[in-house]
Amino acid sequence: MNSIVPRVRFAPSPTGELHVGNARTAFFNWLYARHYGGKLILRIEDTDQERTKKAFEDNLLEDLKWLSLEWDEGPEKNGAVGPYRQSERLELYDSFLKKLIKDEKVYPCYCTEEELELERTSLLSRKMAPRYMGKCRNLTEADRRKLEAQGRRPTFRFKVQPGLIEFQDLIRGAMKFEGEAIGDFIIVRSNGIPAYNFAVVIDDYFMGISTVIRGEDHLSNTAIQLMLYKAFGFTPPEFAHHSLILGKDRTKLSKRHGSVSVREFREKGILPEALLNYLALLGGSIGEGREMCSLEEIVESFSLSRAGKSGAIFDEDKLTWLNSLYIHNEAPDRLRAKLFPFIRKAGFNVDQLDAEWLEKMVDAVKPNLETLADIGSYMAMLADEQIRIGADAASLLREEEARAVIRALLQLLENDALPAEDSYPQLMTTLGKTAGVKGKKLFMPVRAALTGATHGPELDKIFALLGKKSVMKRLKKALALEESFSASATDPD
Ligand code: GLU
Repeated sequence: MNSIVPRVRFAPSPTGELHVGNARTAFFNWLYARHYGGKLILRIEDTDQERTKKAFEDNLLEDLKWLSLEWDEGPEKNGAVGPYRQSERLELYDSFLKKLIKDEKVYPCYCTEEELELERTSLLSRKMAPRYMGKCRNLTEADRRKLEAQGRRPTFRFKVQPGLIEFQDLIRGAMKFEGEAIGDFIIVRSNGIPAYNFAVVIDDYFMGISTVIRGEDHLSNTAIQLMLYKAFGFTPPEFAHHSLILGKDRTKLSKRHGSVSVREFREKGILPEALLNYLALLGGSIGEGREMCSLEEIVESFSLSRAGKSGAIFDEDKLTWLNSLYIHNEAPDRLRAKLFPFIRKAGFNVDQLDAEWLEKMVDAVKPNLETLADIGSYMAMLADEQIRIGADAASLLREEEARAVIRALLQLLENDALPAEDSYPQLMTTLGKTAGVKGKKLFMPVRAALTGATHGPELDKIFALLGKKSVMKRLKKALALEESFSASATDPD
């Protein structure tokens, strides 16, 4: 690494919620900055007036903060090279358009959408790659005046020169593009708004970006951008194009594969640490076959070359599995704080619940949680008015052998107080003797009656959380099940 401080950037367009693929780009840039002691610049590319929404920008900043991918310069931060929203930099772009016009490196193009579409289909029908063929390149001043008089507003197109465009990609090595294959591209639209490739070059240059790290879908844009660097006489930055996240069918991860936005995962109860860890694994950026890594370790071991050339397949099950490890390793008080919003979302008033009971509840269900949102179903399980008896539990509870166990337990409890947590084994031993069964045949009916399920948190903890009254209510409900079960067409699971 040379002695200058590396400057990287994440440049999202706030036209939707933050996609995990973009979050991964942000993460790679953040890692690069942290690993090499550089700066991360956040630039909002909000020139697409129709699709840009302030709410998307707000959510984007919030999601980045939630992921702890803090930026050094950008919105909400000071910085010497702002403003950091493209919509606030329009004058700068305009001055460069004027310069390119003066140098005769661009020309106005009056083609309408329909004309361009016709050209496209005609090229395609001749098995040629669609590109702008330069119809307006050699218009005379008189032609232009005539078109303007018709009310046409021009776009500005860059005059592409033939020849090779070459660059050394930090991930993919030597890259080559043929200038001939690239048609004269638009740099400013007819409404005066700069096109992405034009604005991005000016911004990356004036923001002092040393390394551009982005997805491989931008490779051909890099060729275009290099032409602009040359036209402006700017030294280009280094480029690194990482692979994209793919769905299981190896196409670019999109909504049809399932959840794709950071917000969706957050709402499902994925922890930010787990998501980052997973995104790091996807890129193969942690070595030695390790799965769970702290952010410090990921920063330490980060290298662009490990970010991978081939597409990384997104596997939500693996993310959920990794998330469960993070949940199981979380300190009890921190986990509780993270679960409270999910308990509320499930309709329970956390403030009205006993603090000690909540502590025990979280401790009991923690090993069973895969996501924070899973807490909702455990809270429902523990609420007498919400518990649902699943199909497996119901069919088990219809067996006479199981019902005998439930009857015996009910009787024991009617005679005795519900034992303290530590005397639970004693109660089960007594129950086993009374009912004449042991092992699964003893525990399963009790579990099914108390939780409505055939697996779940440890039974002794469930006993303690429910308390005697609720336990007895559930045992009675289980015994009442036989008559109603066969009549019930909609059996909950
Ligand atoms: N706004 C562009 C995008 O979101 C940025 C691409 C780039 O990093 O240059 O795709």
